Amino acid sequence: LEAHVTPIKQSNGAIAGAVVLLHDVSEWRRLERMRSDFVANVSHELRTPITALKGFAETLLDGALQDQATARQFVQIMQDEADRIGRLVEDLLDLSRIEAKQIDLHLAPVDAAWIMQRVVDTFSGQAADAGVELTQEVIGRTPVIALADSDRLRQVLINLVNNALQFTPAGGRITLSAERKGDRIVFAVQDSGVGIPPADVQRVFERFYRVDKTRSRQSGGTGLGLAIVKHLVEAHGGHVGVFSEVGQGSRFFFDVAGVEAENEEV
Ligand code: ADP
Repeated sequence: LEAHVTPIKQSNGAIAGAVVLLHDVSEWRRLERMRSDFVANVSHELRTPITALKGFAETLLDGALQDQATARQFVQIMQDEADRIGRLVEDLLDLSRIEAKQIDLHLAPVDAAWIMQRVVDTFSGQAADAGVELTQEVIGRTPVIALADSDRLRQVLINLVNNALQFTPAGGRITLSAERKGDRIVFAVQDSGVGIPPADVQRVFERFYRVDKTRSRQSGGTGLGLAIVKHLVEAHGGHVGVFSEVGQGSRFFFDVAGVEAENEEV
């Protein structure tokens, strides 16, 4: 709490009283801390790939250029690191636009089966390579129609499936589902992967929060995917959540508005 005291003086100069203004600065302090944590996080995330770029460039200049095979391998790593910086900047820009409410959502009816199939198709090659079965299903009466921005809805599903693929070993399963619940449509991405420990599960939607930093970085993650998911879903007036059990898998879910299908049987 911060206090500002202004004395009230009488015409003869004697002090008659005081006006005391009390400000609750704890909220302001909290926001200030979040801002400085954020800058520290971004700086750290950028420093890691930049250090790698410099290191490999130096080694190349110091003589590794002479060896074709080594040089090629180093330049490949440098390209990956540059890609990572690019992704981080894209995600940061996206997140800040969404947070500043500078995105326009183009809401329209979206068929859940159609959008889920597009996402399954996007990842089918990657899933096959990883030995993971990737499918989608509509639960209950069909069709299930959401009122959403289809590009943004697709982005949410892509981020969730991308994560599920990172954390699901070969032989596992990933299932996208959609189900009408009242006037809402609940989407879920369920995987049979490594799961998330109870202490971490509530924090995974925070920017840059990772259960296992090394693993996330190795897989090229920016640590921003779920923060973007949360903001996009909330921009749609929905909520995100996750159930997870270590060694069993995770279920990420969210809801958006639904549209009554015209040809639905009552
Ligand atoms: P990134 O994937 O780039 O690290 P995200 O914001 O997408 O960042 O995810 C944050 C963290 O949440 C991940 O680093 C991981 O620890 C955890 N996580 C996300 N999805 C899953 C999942 N399907 N299974 C297990 N852990 C997950």
